[in-house]
Amino acid sequence: MRETNPPQRPMQVKCTAAAEQLPLFCTPEQRATAAAAETATAQPATEKVLPGYALTRSRRKTLCLGVEDGQLIVRAPHYASINDIESFIIEKQRWVTKQLAEDTRRQQEKIRLFDGATFQALGAEFRIEINILGAALRSRIDACMEHKLVTLSLTETGAQRIEDKAEKLFRRWLTSLAAPYMQRATRQLAAATALDRTLGEIGFRYTRSKWGHCTSAGDIQYNPAVVLAPTTVVDYIVAHEVCHLRHRNHSRAFWRLVEKCCPEWRTAEHWLRHNGHRAEFLFCI
Ligand SMILES: [Zn+2]
Repeated sequence: MRETNPPQRPMQVKCTAAAEQLPLFCTPEQRATAAAAETATAQPATEKVLPGYALTRSRRKTLCLGVEDGQLIVRAPHYASINDIESFIIEKQRWVTKQLAEDTRRQQEKIRLFDGATFQALGAEFRIEINILGAALRSRIDACMEHKLVTLSLTETGAQRIEDKAEKLFRRWLTSLAAPYMQRATRQLAAATALDRTLGEIGFRYTRSKWGHCTSAGDIQYNPAVVLAPTTVVDYIVAHEVCHLRHRNHSRAFWRLVEKCCPEWRTAEHWLRHNGHRAEFLFCI
């Protein structure tokens, strides 16, 4: 864990380093690090306007800024005054403006799913068809792998937004697509590197911040949305997590093993860092 102390601030910006996780994209804590770095070049307070923000208070000891889905998020200790919080935001305004613009760009580059839209998954092009059903029927998803056609049948009944129903069903389908490929790839690589004895369960779970995770027990968990990334990136994520079976860190020895298992890892890592949001999707129904 690292900590940064911006000068003249009553509270610290805390940054955590996730040692055994593959970040999906910049975490709020990483963004806060950049915010701290902006301190020296901040504009005069008189020219600044306070942007809207969502505030979450907790037992944390530090102030943390982040941007999620076009919204500035502030995480603050219970004891932080609104004055302190807003002075902090104003101080970091240049960083906040930049992050909000970057977030807007990322939102626009996400995969947009609507009736007739196409998308790439595991190297194949799929088309999505959306039908709105009568109230008596149940929402469901069907896929024809031969024709690479995914059909979403949705009802508008109930409290849940139709986009949320679509997202839930689509995620379930993505997991069914990801599981056979990634389980096989993981087992094959673990066997080839003589790490199969240390491999535990292979699971799938959606998370906002990680593509993959390897526990100390040798269980590997993947974010199934990764299949929306280029296949070389999927293979790198598998290699990354399998290599964690031997090295539970990001040491030089770890990266040497990654290099052996996946010589293209640098390109894949670069894609994840700069284009990870392109493997996220948004329903526009
Ligand atoms: Zn890692």
